[in-house]
Amino acid sequence: MNESVKKTDSIESLRQRVSEMENLLNANQMLCDVLDPVELYSTISRLIREQLEVSPIGIFVYHHETENFELVFSHGLNDLVFTFDKNNGPLWQKILQKEPFPVNDTSGNPIFKEFSINNILKKLYSEWWVPFIMKEEVIGLLTIGEKNNGQPIDEIEYDYIKHIANQATVCLTACNLNLKRQKERQELDKILKNLSLLYNIGRAMTYISDLKNLLKYILEKAIGITNAEKGSIMLYDPDTNRLSITFIEGLEDNDYQEKINNKQVECKSFKPGEGVAGQAFQEAKPVILNNIKGEDEFIEADSSFVRSIACIPMLVYNEVIGVINVTNKQDDTQFTEVDIEMLKAVTDQAAVAINKAQLQEMAITDFLTGLYIRRYFMSRLQDELLRSERYNKTFSIAMIDIDKFKNVNDTYGHAAGDQALKAAGSFFQKNLRQTDVVARYGGEEFVIFFPETNKKVAYVLAERLRKGFSQIRLDTLPRLSISLGISTYPDDGKDIETLIKKADAAMYSAKQRGRNQVVKFS
Ligand code: GH3
Ligand code: MG
Ligand code: MG
Repeated sequence: MNESVKKTDSIESLRQRVSEMENLLNANQMLCDVLDPVELYSTISRLIREQLEVSPIGIFVYHHETENFELVFSHGLNDLVFTFDKNNGPLWQKILQKEPFPVNDTSGNPIFKEFSINNILKKLYSEWWVPFIMKEEVIGLLTIGEKNNGQPIDEIEYDYIKHIANQATVCLTACNLNLKRQKERQELDKILKNLSLLYNIGRAMTYISDLKNLLKYILEKAIGITNAEKGSIMLYDPDTNRLSITFIEGLEDNDYQEKINNKQVECKSFKPGEGVAGQAFQEAKPVILNNIKGEDEFIEADSSFVRSIACIPMLVYNEVIGVINVTNKQDDTQFTEVDIEMLKAVTDQAAVAINKAQLQEMAITDFLTGLYIRRYFMSRLQDELLRSERYNKTFSIAMIDIDKFKNVNDTYGHAAGDQALKAAGSFFQKNLRQTDVVARYGGEEFVIFFPETNKKVAYVLAERLRKGFSQIRLDTLPRLSISLGISTYPDDGKDIETLIKKADAAMYSAKQRGRNQVVKFS
């Protein structure tokens, strides 16, 4: 009889052990499956509550930098927001022992009184504290309230808590590591993305040699990386000591923007120190202005509203050659130091490329009229001829000579003659189509390339120029006129020498027929 009771007892206790083991294994599994800290807190809390039927529960994370415990999760504590300092005394010593410990004595009175722990305990309604310690480092703390049945925690329950705490510590460490690694990876991804972006921008810049396309490319990238609404590039002209808007992007008035970018209208210019861009230029330092109010006195590229602006000076060999401006974040946030850093990396490369393109442009630009020089025109014409050959396209050329120009010099002086030539240059620049190419061919002679333009259309365009030219008014000079001669590829010739010669011959006919007219070669 006795034997049988004993046997039943031991089977029963074995069953109990197996069930406990199963519980622990399940708990382990549940904890190990979690990679997100917040989810882990709630899993720890649920496992403890389900097994022990206790409440409330609080989970603290320990911050080494501040030596603070922060309540990161609670159950039954009504969203309590709570931190408390590490207290370098008996309580801390107790925590460092890595074992769960009761915070009240057997009569229910708090121990650790001397550390004004009363208040903490009262707020947490805790009976037991369970430290999370990983390799001698305190990483957190679990606080457990009273069991619902009022009974003290027994030995099995104590073991269970201890086991959960151990497992939770490992999992929490893993979670934090995972989080840290994720953050690092995101940061690395971002750096890598920016680096490759900068690399690509730098590479592209070395391929674009004409100034206008270069400015366009650079400005588009600057606007793109800062998520701005619009922007402009200002270049400094040492001759006039002014900073002029040379390229603009993102204006609502597209036609106006095109005109600015094609130098067909004069855009605003600033003295060094004037306006934000002028300030960035003068100080050779980026300037950010956020939260600009409507009533603020503010000089800008166009008259539309500016809420925020970042201006980055472009430096070449310690000399500022211009400023890149970006205006208004698309999401209406503010320009930040990160934006400035990225912009600086772009502008450093941009400055060198722009400087190079400027020098190149200077080498192919006539100083007086601002038009291309003859040598560049001829080499460009050669390229265009090859293109037209390949694609079977026509094009026309106009030779232009100012009528009786010697008289201007003789009567009004050479300087007045120069002024007239300058005016003629800007007239041609403003009154041609974007794709037409004009150059100063010689003294007061000019030449125009009309791509994909037959003789009939070229004649109409030339007539329009002739009429417009005769309307130009210059302060002291009488009205001037021009004679034009037109030749067309391939009708009049298949090489540029012939085509130029024939346009020249047509121009001579125009002179002979009385000047101020257009003659087509035939
Ligand atoms: P037309 O062409 O109608 O036959 O008469 P024209 O008086 O214009 O004759 P021509 O083309 O032979 O004379 C060109 C004059 O242009 C000669 C020269 O003094 C003047 N000229 C050429 N280059 C410059 C320059 O850079 N500045 C000034 N002021 N004058 C120049
Ligand atoms: Mg001449
Ligand atoms: Mg002449």
